Amino acid sequence: MEEVRDLIVIGGACAAQSAAIYAVRSGMDVLVIADEYGGQINNTDVVENYLGIKSVTGPELAERYLEHMREYDVSEEVGQKAVDVRKNNELFEVELEDGTIFKSYSVILATGGSRRKLNAEGEEEFTNKGVAYCAVCDGPLYQGEEVAVIGGGYAGTEAAVYLSDIAEKVYVLSRSGNLSGEEITINEVLDAENVEILREATLDHFYGENLLEGLKYKQSGEVKDLKVTGAFVEIGTVPNSDITELVETNDSGYIEVDDERETSTEGLYAAGDVTDKGAQQLVVSAGQGCQAALNASEYVKQQKSNN
Ligand SMILES: Cc1cc2nc3c(=O)[nH]c(=O)nc-3n(C[C@H](O)[C@H](O)[C@H](O)COP(=O)(O)OP(=O)(O)OC[C@H]3O[C@@H](n4cnc5c(N)ncnc54)[C@H](O)[C@@H]3O)c2cc1C
Repeated sequence: MEEVRDLIVIGGACAAQSAAIYAVRSGMDVLVIADEYGGQINNTDVVENYLGIKSVTGPELAERYLEHMREYDVSEEVGQKAVDVRKNNELFEVELEDGTIFKSYSVILATGGSRRKLNAEGEEEFTNKGVAYCAVCDGPLYQGEEVAVIGGGYAGTEAAVYLSDIAEKVYVLSRSGNLSGEEITINEVLDAENVEILREATLDHFYGENLLEGLKYKQSGEVKDLKVTGAFVEIGTVPNSDITELVETNDSGYIEVDDERETSTEGLYAAGDVTDKGAQQLVVSAGQGCQAALNASEYVKQQKSNN
């Protein structure tokens, strides 16, 4: 007879791993499906706002999440994306890239977000040849060089602080003219002597021969030149919500959930950065994973008692 899981959790980071722990502790038989473990925090320098841990690197925290989840009896299917979630009679079917299908009574979507691209001229051509999306991963390649951060928000200010310890000079292109994000990080950017903020500056295009040599940006109606060997695109994230047609999304693509974290399909829940509610922070994702898991567990118990 084919195996039907109580709950499938799709995602490999904070929201998913929190959900998996709570679901197993509620007596659920849980399968976690992830293309890879770690999530966005794995590419972050340090986390200093997670309650109970004063300071920890992103990769270490990601590792701790995984180790914690593995303290429990969770089944894992890692290495492929889930590409579809369907509902067939009362059961969900989750399909992977290679066509494998897993079935369950309930599913939690915790697929988070991916880095937003500029879609600017030269961006694709110079990706990994000077244009990067992760300061922590690629920043060390630019020791003593001049680099730019495109974006003056939460991710942009964090990247600028990190890069200011490595690069000779860091330019931050801020479209709005103001920095946003955490006040403490903004102040670090403002205090760093080698960081220059280019206000009301929008990127026009990247250029170079084989490797990035610079970028052109627009400011006060003029096109200006900036010679940099590295450019970090830090303009936020897009939700990884295109995995199923069973959910409603808002105008920005975030999955809409109710107070129980249930989507527009009964038995299908969502948590973390892929959803439309709550600040995009670890503590929120962990809490939402908990909520989704507890509600999904109740739903599964009800479904099984009806059969
Ligand atoms: C630069 C930066 C710095 C940050 N700093 C902080 C900070 O200091 N403190 C803080 O609290 N928060 C911080 N955040 C925010 C924090 O990283 C997010 O809120 C958190 O990672 C969200 O967790 P998540 O589990 O919802 O999603 P994600 O971390 O995005 O993880 C999603 C997971 O799902 C997997 N996945 C995606 N699609 C599929 C699929 N189709 N099939 C299978 N698996 C899939 C991904 O591989 C990944 O493992 C930062 C974010 C960034 C970008």
